[in-house]
Amino acid sequence: MAEYDYDLIVIGAGPGGYVGAIRAAQLGLKTACVEGRETLGGTCLNVGCIPSKALLHGSEKYEEAANGTLARYGVKLGKVELDLAALQADKADAVKGLTGGIEFLFKKNKVDWLKGYGTFKDAHTVEVAGKAYTAKNVVIATGSSVTPLPGVEVDNDKGIIVDSTGALALSKVPAHMVVIGGGVIGLELGSVWRRLGAKVTVVEFLDALLPGMDGDVRKEAAKIFKKQGMELKLGTKVTGASVKGKKATLTLEPAKGGAAETLEADCVLVSIGRRPNVDGLGLENIGLELNSRGQIETDHDFRTKVDGVWAIGDCIPGPMLAHKAEDEGIAVAENIAGQTGIVNHDVIPGVVYTNPEFAGVGLTEEQAKERGEIKVGKFPMMANSRAKTNHEPDGFVKVIADAKTDKVLGVWCIASVAGTMIAEAALAMEFGATSEDIAYTCHAHPTHSEAVKEAAMGVTGKPIHI
Ligand code: FAD
Ligand code: NAD
Repeated sequence: MAEYDYDLIVIGAGPGGYVGAIRAAQLGLKTACVEGRETLGGTCLNVGCIPSKALLHGSEKYEEAANGTLARYGVKLGKVELDLAALQADKADAVKGLTGGIEFLFKKNKVDWLKGYGTFKDAHTVEVAGKAYTAKNVVIATGSSVTPLPGVEVDNDKGIIVDSTGALALSKVPAHMVVIGGGVIGLELGSVWRRLGAKVTVVEFLDALLPGMDGDVRKEAAKIFKKQGMELKLGTKVTGASVKGKKATLTLEPAKGGAAETLEADCVLVSIGRRPNVDGLGLENIGLELNSRGQIETDHDFRTKVDGVWAIGDCIPGPMLAHKAEDEGIAVAENIAGQTGIVNHDVIPGVVYTNPEFAGVGLTEEQAKERGEIKVGKFPMMANSRAKTNHEPDGFVKVIADAKTDKVLGVWCIASVAGTMIAEAALAMEFGATSEDIAYTCHAHPTHSEAVKEAAMGVTGKPIHI
């Protein structure tokens, strides 16, 4: 009889866990994946990346029809009306298709789905729905949940104070939505409801939106979202909320202290960040402690301090992004199978899927300057022929390179398709490219990506079209 039931048990079937489980099975490991949700795919497929992108896509189409953008191209429409139920159904369809797809991939790759929430009994034993399963190795991929804001209680069923999951499921467009937190979720979901007709006010603690992004990008983001009609209250904190009937009243104060004010809303979205899911996991039973941010620490190979226990994705340090979790899933499976799995954490792109999109990879200008002398090339989308033709004047590409070696240290884009454009920058950086390498790579015309080439040419002061 085998010593263990499985070679590997993965706890959590988000992008980290399900990808890791499939890769492990492909490498010949007998693998099971524990998931407590009704469907596979984790936050990303069920209540994150996919449903938010479905609503972003649909709301963009609605806005183009409603605000006359399509009329410019000769598309004549009658009275434009929103059928929110149809948009929500389209979102549900996307989620169903993709989560079902993971179930199919599990069957195809012979990964067992252990249904229920897993708890460690010891480092090699996980209890799921009252049954104990043993494995030589266990990967923790339990992801993250919304960080609560004291005094502002979320109740997604009532739909007045909601988190991202509630904001994805509203059955009515709120007249006034207040978003607490001007980060990725606040701006993406705030954009959805603004496009569909809500007045949106964003309350952000810091003096700029989108923490973690390049300073120029953050400044430009404020200009762009204001131009689109969002009200921004930067440097402001929410100190409390009360709900009466169908309205919420928020108390706000300047972040640095000062006179309080109140703000009424039909819907409040709490989006101030996410924290790792570790409750009920039984980490105390294996002696695994968390760091000061509640995360599980690992080494470069994703090993925790406990022999045979590994961790990946949102529950460990690093950006909380699906593609980062996926790459870690592949790497941890390869390491467990005796291969060499590596994730280059210096080259993980980040994208905000608004319109325009905001994307970046590598160092911000501020970070790069702290490390040494740099050169920067910047090219405005207004001077890019394709963006100009498509009436997409907002944004720029910025390439940051080491002044001595010319090695690219960071690339930042604001453009309608910045999320797609940033892939070439990530590839270039992964291969250690210089700005000259990008500048002398032939880019198809007319594409938005030519702006990446021109920004790279700008590093040595030689762009053509400005
Ligand atoms: P998760 O996807 O959180 O999956 C963890 C899974 O583990 C969950 O299904 C949970 O039910 C399960 N679980 C937890 N504890 C247990 C247990 N004890 N036993 C069994 N199962 C357990 N990222 C992007 O890159 N692009 C985007 O566009 C994007 N959009 C987002 C939009 C929203 C609204 C949100 C909330 C997030 C978004 N993200 C996006 C972030 C992305 O969803 C996460 O980074 C990603 O899902 C993390 O993957 P993970 O596998 O670590 O964890
Ligand atoms: P975030 O960290 O992006 O933004 C949270 C914002 O809230 C910050 O700007 C912070 O300064 C602000 N804040 C914190 N406390 C506050 C307070 N009391 N009052 C006002 N503002 C306050 O977090 P998020 O938007 O909740 O997203 C969570 C995670 O999900 C992110 O790490 C992100 O990577 C991931 N995500 C990614 C995508 C994407 O890749 N497109 C989309 C959605 C979510």
